[in-house]
Amino acid sequence: MQKSAKTYFTSTLLSWAEQQEQRDMPWKATKDPYKIWLSEIILQQTRVEQGRPYYLKFIAAFPTIKDLAEAPEEQVMKLWQGLGYYSRARNLHAAAKHVMEEHLGVFPKEHKDILALKGVGPYTAAAIASFAYELSYAVVDGNVYRVLARYFGIHSAIDSSKGQKEFRVLAQELMDENQASKYNQAIMDFGATQCKPGLPHCEICPLSSACVSYDTDLVKLLPIKEKKLKKKNRYFYYFVIRDAEGLYLAKREKKDIWQHLYDFPSIESAQLKEPSIVINEAKEKLRELELEYLGISDPYKQVLSHQNITAYYLEFESSKNIPDNWKSAEKATKTKLKKYALPRIVERYLLDKSLISKEGESS
Ligand code: SF4
Repeated sequence: MQKSAKTYFTSTLLSWAEQQEQRDMPWKATKDPYKIWLSEIILQQTRVEQGRPYYLKFIAAFPTIKDLAEAPEEQVMKLWQGLGYYSRARNLHAAAKHVMEEHLGVFPKEHKDILALKGVGPYTAAAIASFAYELSYAVVDGNVYRVLARYFGIHSAIDSSKGQKEFRVLAQELMDENQASKYNQAIMDFGATQCKPGLPHCEICPLSSACVSYDTDLVKLLPIKEKKLKKKNRYFYYFVIRDAEGLYLAKREKKDIWQHLYDFPSIESAQLKEPSIVINEAKEKLRELELEYLGISDPYKQVLSHQNITAYYLEFESSKNIPDNWKSAEKATKTKLKKYALPRIVERYLLDKSLISKEGESS
């Protein structure tokens, strides 16, 4: 590829960025690596509008990395509740502790040390290194793959290691080393607002005259992915066991979705089961507790990136007080229930049952 083609791409992209109205993002006005890191972790799987209130809540609760490192895990998880991909919160907390112990509380300045932090991959490391320290590491994410694949007409699969290497090399060559943060921000914004996945604005694109896919009508085809994502179906049959004081919650300890969040004791199936079969299984499992079976809820659904979750809630009541702990479950009193970090599908059920109230409302 001609050097001039790359130079044209970079300079056109940078002048496009200069003409754009800056979106109001609180983390853009700072060079504080802690705040940039926090915003980048939040934005890894989350839209800006959804992430903004979480960022503000975290900064208010933990103004410095020391505050975050010293916070109890429950507080971090609770603040993260509703944002999904909970490993991000656990990694954030672990990385804050690591910075306190290994870097004397000073956020690392070198790319390799940033990349070594838990939860920080090549994309996030490049973003932090360039935004906080102007180090010239090019970001490569879904937006960048799309822009480069379309503009340069690249047919290599973006989910193959060969393709990814090709895109990484090209992205680094395109970067303006003297304007690392501006360049990275520009290509991300361009992918998010101009060369969008579904409907790119090709007619008003400053790069259209040299864009290979626009010229050859391949915009809809690129970028190419090798594998189609197959989603797994999971059915959770939750046991909601209540007495007059509260109900049992179970902490999800396994390496799985929602690790360290709370839901209920349950049985899981890869197939939808007949309600009568599940009810009998549940009664068998719970026979040592003296319970009255009240009924089963309608299905609650939650779609995750790799899984479709369907949850049913089987409700049981005990006229006597149930013990504080039963197997791995612990009794949560009604007043304490809102302090637990819960998956959204569980929160929705508890809200429907008026067992908790929405944040900001009194219960
Ligand atoms: S012309 Fe269309 S496909 Fe090409 S870079 Fe611009 S927006 Fe993207």
